[in-house]
Amino acid sequence: MNVLISACLLGVNCKYDGGRNYIKEIEKLKEIYNLIPICPEIYGGLQTPREPAEIVNGKVINRKGEDVTDKFIKGANETLYLAKLFNCKYAILKERSPSCGYGKIYDGTFTGNLVDGYGITAELLAKNGIEVMGESQIDKLLNMDESKD
Ligand code: SF4
Repeated sequence: MNVLISACLLGVNCKYDGGRNYIKEIEKLKEIYNLIPICPEIYGGLQTPREPAEIVNGKVINRKGEDVTDKFIKGANETLYLAKLFNCKYAILKERSPSCGYGKIYDGTFTGNLVDGYGITAELLAKNGIEVMGESQIDKLLNMDESKD
C-alpha cells in the first residue's frame, strides 16, 4: 500500500531552515508500506531555506509579512495530485506545519503558541478522503495489517 509522507520526516533537508525532522520510526514503516515523499512548500515554488510562515485568518503569512498563500495552495494541489496518482488512503504528515499540520498549528504570532487548525495541504487531503495522521500517530499505521493491499 502506498502512503504519502512528509519528506522532512524521512530526513530530507527541506525544512524552512534547511534542516529536517527525521524520525526513527520511518525505518519500520518503510518495511511495511511504499512511502511516497512529498514537500508541499517546495512543490509550491518556495526555496530552502525560506522564511518561516504561519496561518493568520486563513492566509499564510511569512515572518517578513509577505502573503505566500498562493504558493501554499499550489503545493497542496500538487500533493493531492500525487496522492490520487498513487492511490494513497493515508498520509503521515509533519505536525504543526502550516502546510502539513493537522489538528494543531502555530497561531500566526511566531511565538510557538498552538491553536486548533489545519495546514493547507493537510486540510485539502482530508477533504478529499485521505486519512491524515501526524508523526505521533505513526503507531496506528504500524499496527494495521493493510500492507498487502
Ligand atoms: Fe516538511 Fe511539510 Fe514543511 Fe515540507 S512542507 S518541510 S514536508 S512540514
